[in-house]
Amino acid sequence: MKFRNFKMVDYVVYGRGAFNQLDEIITPHRKNGKPMVFLVDHFFDRKPLVSRVPAKGNDTIIFADVTYEPKTTYVDKLAQQLKDEFGSVSGVIGIGGGSTMDLAKAVSLIMNNPGSSADYQGWDLVKNPGVYKVGIPTLSGTGAEVSRTTVLTGPTKKLGMNSDFTPFDQIVLDPELTTNAPANQRFYTGMDCYIHCIESLEGTYLNEFSKSYGEKALQLCQKVFVQKDTWDDECDDMLMMASYAGGMSIAYSQVGVAHAVSYGLSYLLGTKHGIGNCIVMNHLEEYYPAGVKEFKYMVEKNKIEIPAGICKGLSDEDFEKMINVSMGMKPLWENALGKDWEKIMTREKLRTLFEKL
Ligand code: NAD
Ligand code: ZN
Repeated sequence: MKFRNFKMVDYVVYGRGAFNQLDEIITPHRKNGKPMVFLVDHFFDRKPLVSRVPAKGNDTIIFADVTYEPKTTYVDKLAQQLKDEFGSVSGVIGIGGGSTMDLAKAVSLIMNNPGSSADYQGWDLVKNPGVYKVGIPTLSGTGAEVSRTTVLTGPTKKLGMNSDFTPFDQIVLDPELTTNAPANQRFYTGMDCYIHCIESLEGTYLNEFSKSYGEKALQLCQKVFVQKDTWDDECDDMLMMASYAGGMSIAYSQVGVAHAVSYGLSYLLGTKHGIGNCIVMNHLEEYYPAGVKEFKYMVEKNKIEIPAGICKGLSDEDFEKMINVSMGMKPLWENALGKDWEKIMTREKLRTLFEKL
């Protein structure tokens, strides 16, 4: 048995208003004449948060277009733009949801690694550390703030740049930044965390390390989405820690059926991660009975619409594509169903599941 020895985020600051410490935190990382790059979720364009970004000198603020989940072409374009304008930079600071944080990680890596980000989609392909990188979530749930991956859609696959160089050097967890996120978005991204917990806790890869974090994260999600009747600051505080702990849990285990199937949807239909997981989770009673029951309760209680019928009218070829992508996620299936997963989740069975979505 060989145990995973994983790299974690170096520095973490948590608290309401922690964003105000950003200037002080990044100052020691400024290199002579080289700018800090603030990659800010386009949602904040012309919003008050922008005036609080501690940009000075030749620092630059770029609004990240996250209409679509991050693509390798977009990462390459951003990195090239920075190389052309500045040669190199002091650091990249990603402020936004999972998409913006992933973009920031990927751009940081491509600043110091030759070629395209598509060349590094996989496990441990990145050769050099990236430039200094900071992650500042404005939505809670993905765990992208703690993970060793950055999920990218490339020319041939949707796969992360998984490496020891991928985790942030610093994260700033300020729950104030998630205030006022739309209820639906907050729910979809929050459910990403809930589903991470269920998949981790019900998985065969579980050990005490991931269980400890997974149970805590699950409890926080339940407080927020089951026990609370109205959204308040405490919900934002708790969900931000749930996301962190949920991310820590899957770092040492793995996700499962909902993610494996959701990746198929996302590849073919461009369905976004959070909502795609919800669409799938709605139909997974067979695999996660208690989790799905509670999930449905939370959907109802929080008055959320989960889209249905998104696979209606797809061709056999389309289904084949989704099945191929989904079946390719071997570790996810193995975690969910054990070593003999291929005997349990056949292509026919998966097709039937996709047809229900
Ligand atoms: P997102 O980053 O895609 O953002 C969703 C929407 O919310 C966008 O329109 C964005 O502009 C908006 N938004 C962001 N913050 C807001 C705020 N405070 N108020 C209002 N709107 C706001 O959503 P997400 O669910 O956080 O992230 C999903 C992405 O994360 C996917 O690309 C997925 O692949 C990735 N992901 C990565 C990991 C990882 O480990 N690296 C894990 C899970 C998911
Ligand atoms: Zn997820």
